[in-house]
Amino acid sequence: MKISEIYTNHKKSLSFEIFPPKKDSELENIDETLAVLCRLNPNYISVTFGAGGSANCNRTIELAKKIKREYHVEPVVHLTCLHYDRAEIDEFADRLADAGLQNILALRGDKKPDVMEKGDFKHASDLISYMKPKGDFCFLGACYPECHPESDNRINEIKHLKMKVNAGAEVLLSQLFFDNEQFFRFQEDCRIAEINVPLIPGIMPVINASQIKRMITMCGAAFPVRFQKIIDKYGNNRAALFDAGMSYALSQIIDLLVSDTCGIHLYTMNNPIVAGKICEGICNII
Ligand code: FAD
Repeated sequence: MKISEIYTNHKKSLSFEIFPPKKDSELENIDETLAVLCRLNPNYISVTFGAGGSANCNRTIELAKKIKREYHVEPVVHLTCLHYDRAEIDEFADRLADAGLQNILALRGDKKPDVMEKGDFKHASDLISYMKPKGDFCFLGACYPECHPESDNRINEIKHLKMKVNAGAEVLLSQLFFDNEQFFRFQEDCRIAEINVPLIPGIMPVINASQIKRMITMCGAAFPVRFQKIIDKYGNNRAALFDAGMSYALSQIIDLLVSDTCGIHLYTMNNPIVAGKICEGICNII
């Protein structure tokens, strides 16, 4: 099933992001996580793609196949393009089509000084335009309520996003954020620019200190005062941070669901306890 079809009846979606285990030996443990996640009845599960290297892309495809065949949940395969050439993308498209994997989150990928850019694709929109004629795929794209870190200004960011939608992105999954007002403002800007595809807010419950460090250095999301206070008070208290981080994420999610949004995409970090607790908190709402 194409993910875009979920949104034709205006129902709110619940979806999860997971990542393939780094080692083959850990592939078995993923079943434990998947069993819990799939019992929560998500509309789809997206599987991340490690930048560069065929081993990474094999694991993404294998995990997506497993989700579809063994758990009967629709997978979305993430695919980056900056470090691949057309021939490699052709091969990937063939493998996805052969496996019956229709839904692709088309991404540029992060620039990496130590990995050569192949030059065939500069942006996610190039990947979508190139792959579109190659199969009956449904493309999703990434979006950034607080702008992509490389963005020069908000107007250009929205213009580029519109180009991605015009190229064929039918659903947009957002970068994580901690301030819902940022998402609401972004959603309004998109509507003004006539970006009319579903925008799905991405939420990550922050439950441990290493996640906080990663947030600060990598994603550029603003920390609202209410969230900063949690980090300041409970950053070094594992159990308290778990409780407070979960409650914060849940309050964000409820606020998004009662507002004009199309669903929730949960960054699970492969943690079934986190996903389970969030779903418990919204089971009568979504
Ligand atoms: P693009 O859409 O190409 O945008 C990147 C920048 O280029 C933006 O600033 C944009 O404004 C600008 N731009 C776009 N088009 C043009 C144009 N035509 N001319 C000039 N400028 C332009 N990374 C991974 O490696 N693996 C993953 O699995 C993964 N999953 C992700 C899932 C989500 C939901 C999100 C939000 C991000 C994910 N990423 C992943 C990270 C992503 O690869 C990086 O954020 C990357 O730097 C940008 O990818 P993009 O597809 O958004 O790029």
